[in-house]
Amino acid sequence: MKQKDIAALLDEPACSHNKKSKSGCARPKPGSTAGGCAFDGAQIALLPIADVAHIVHGSIACAGSSWDNRGTRSSGPTLYKIGMTTDLTEQDVVMGRGEKRLFHSIHQAIETYSPAAVFVYNTCIPALVGDDVEAVCKSAEERWGTPVVPVDAAGFYGTKNLGNRIAGEAMVKYVMGRREPDPVPAAAQREGITVHDVNLIGEYNIAGELWHVLPLLDELGLRVLCTLSGDARYREVQTMHRAEVNMMVCSKAMINVARKLQEAFDTPWFEGSFYGVTDVSNALRDFARLIDDPDLTRRTEALIAREEARIDAALEPWRERLRGRRVLLYTGGVKSWSIISALQDLGMEVVATGTKKSTEEDKARIRELMGQDAVMVEDGNPRALINIVRENNVDILIAGGRNMYTALKARIPFLDINQERDFGYEGYEGMIELARQLALTIESPVWEAVRRPAPWVAQAPALDTAAEA
Ligand code: SF4
Repeated sequence: MKQKDIAALLDEPACSHNKKSKSGCARPKPGSTAGGCAFDGAQIALLPIADVAHIVHGSIACAGSSWDNRGTRSSGPTLYKIGMTTDLTEQDVVMGRGEKRLFHSIHQAIETYSPAAVFVYNTCIPALVGDDVEAVCKSAEERWGTPVVPVDAAGFYGTKNLGNRIAGEAMVKYVMGRREPDPVPAAAQREGITVHDVNLIGEYNIAGELWHVLPLLDELGLRVLCTLSGDARYREVQTMHRAEVNMMVCSKAMINVARKLQEAFDTPWFEGSFYGVTDVSNALRDFARLIDDPDLTRRTEALIAREEARIDAALEPWRERLRGRRVLLYTGGVKSWSIISALQDLGMEVVATGTKKSTEEDKARIRELMGQDAVMVEDGNPRALINIVRENNVDILIAGGRNMYTALKARIPFLDINQERDFGYEGYEGMIELARQLALTIESPVWEAVRRPAPWVAQAPALDTAAEA
């Protein structure tokens, strides 16, 4: 990828972060890709497209260290679960065999799995050697008649976030706009209801949580043309240009896709979240507002009133168990505040929240919810987190998987809120699941057991006494 293309992706005009800094997003410093390189970000963003063969062009470590690191689910094909790599060795590099290996790998993937398309992720080594991945993809596509999409995201180009944008850019450039959506099925043409097409961008269907939301959209007559990229199919991505509204779900990662669709097709977009009762209702209202169909607005309000009343009643027994419990929330971005409102809904007290990846707007929302003196944790090193837990009598640490061992070693109840988790918290139904997991975690008898002195410690004085006797 050329320097000017990387610079253009870093300088995203729709990103509020970017507006504040004249030089665009920060460039990575040596070592900073350790938290996920551009390749990792690109693969995370596209791997959930389930019927595509995802080939990592590079050394085995790139594919091996990053494969399947999100609990994203598919309702059909499982091809995306098969890790494919060209597995470049020193000999391939010395002999200049990278392009040839890639060409054969694409052939093997097409012959063995008949995928809807092949995505090829470029990584550091072939990018440094200078393999022409785009040309190989083009000639493979011509030869075998299956779409082959280059995703030029070598790790040294930048951070994981840049990788997300590169992935979005590849979809805009090579995939979107290549097909028209299927006609609305007759069964969906319910009496008097106009079906509106929408996209969800940045929704990854972690632990299947999107399936809590889809029935609501379906009831309102909102047909999801594509989610980029949870439980998506290649042919759906091709139709994304036809949506009436795009929702950026919980993330600015692929904001360039929303902006480009707006510029090219005049599609309005909004940022929203499906975590917590209030945010789900707001997201549904935003769809109705932007589509501007009075009947949809009326039905949306009716659905919200019905669902909020139902969930309120369903959450009551859980509130009894969770009320007054103290939480340390250490996550980033939109979740740093959207989960706060979900926890407050349950009567819990959030003593501090992490703000490492949060924008100024995110921080303003946190202050709105927690007050002006809200404790924001910028650097969540293990010692700092444990100190906050001890000083504030925290009942549970809610954070990403990498904090799990910090919590468990310190014998603190822990709930994973990030992408590796096993439970879906989106939608109204997701709130019940969140409440259930919180209560089960806090009330687990294991905490009392592990905090008791070990039996041999308790017995030690008795043995001493016996010896004296
Ligand atoms: S793409 Fe580069 S930085 Fe990323 S895992 Fe591969 S070698 Fe490492």
